[in-house]
Amino acid sequence: MKSDEVILSAKNISVTFPVAGRQLVAVDGVSLEVREGETVALVGESGSGKSTTALALIRAIPIDSGELRFLGQDITNLREKDLFSARRQMQMVFQDPYSSLDPRMTVQEIITEPLRAHGMQEIAEQRVSELLAAVGLSPDHSSRKPDQFSGGQRQRIAIARALALRPRLIIADEPVSALDVSIQAQIVNLLQDVQREFRMSYLIIAHDLGLVNHIADRVIVMYLGRIVEEGTADQITWEPKHPYTVSLLSASPGDAHLRKNRIILGGEPPSPIDRPSGCPFHPRCPIAQERCVTETPKLLEIESGRKVACHFSGVMDPPLVEIQSYS
Ligand code: ADP
Ligand code: MG
Repeated sequence: MKSDEVILSAKNISVTFPVAGRQLVAVDGVSLEVREGETVALVGESGSGKSTTALALIRAIPIDSGELRFLGQDITNLREKDLFSARRQMQMVFQDPYSSLDPRMTVQEIITEPLRAHGMQEIAEQRVSELLAAVGLSPDHSSRKPDQFSGGQRQRIAIARALALRPRLIIADEPVSALDVSIQAQIVNLLQDVQREFRMSYLIIAHDLGLVNHIADRVIVMYLGRIVEEGTADQITWEPKHPYTVSLLSASPGDAHLRKNRIILGGEPPSPIDRPSGCPFHPRCPIAQERCVTETPKLLEIESGRKVACHFSGVMDPPLVEIQSYS
């Protein structure tokens, strides 16, 4: 069930890392909201600050500034012991199911570990078989160890573990990018199925926008630590306003054939330690003008829930039609 209740909100959060005596701004003034029952996709190339944002949201790393609220509570400065109950309601699924599961533990131990940590061991036994069934694994699997499973099955185990405490929110950081392409869709579909069964919100992080836009309600696009566009999944898919979003769509193997207007980006994004002046995307942008070199575009709300940070988003459609490739 979706509702308008905002369960997670971040206001203007920034995270910097000291790197070789300089400050690397990994997350630069990000604001986002996740509502009850909603699936929000956070997308962007590698290095855009998605994982750092996720870690900041769960208070796993400190933020330099900004405000975090979860389930009506300001958690920005909560001490570790006071975070205990919030932690129960937000769980993470990580990218690599090979490193995220302890190889010495059995599946049963892995899945029930969060229950034990939260003093709920008495319901563990019964919940394991329910969770295994929910993620499409057999109860016979519970005494095996992770090395007996494929990557896809391991990610199913990680999802079962994330569900164990019946959280209100799951943050999944690139949950399928370490998996075989052939099983990525299965795991995305599984995430969708368990959301129906267990009713929680998702923040799903991905670099392949085409893989997640069909299960997302809203999409937030990041580039070099900043949000550059936000909208419903349909708006982002069919009426992208930022040239960077168009490039992400163009790069998606599943989606590319759908599009006439493509932008194929060459190379890697610049490092956030040497962020370009003006619009950080301007050196790679096919529609950049003088103004983009000097003036950083603000993230403007162009209609309710629809945001874009581009000086030329309004005039982008005609020029893009002519752009077949760019590098
Ligand atoms: P994404 O998840 O979108 O690939 P990350 O959040 O992992 O991006 O990284 C954003 C930027 O922050 C990158 O430039 C990365 O190198 C840098 N970064 C991330 N974690 C650290 C860290 N612990 N120390 C220094 N730099 C980091
Ligand atoms: Mg990441």
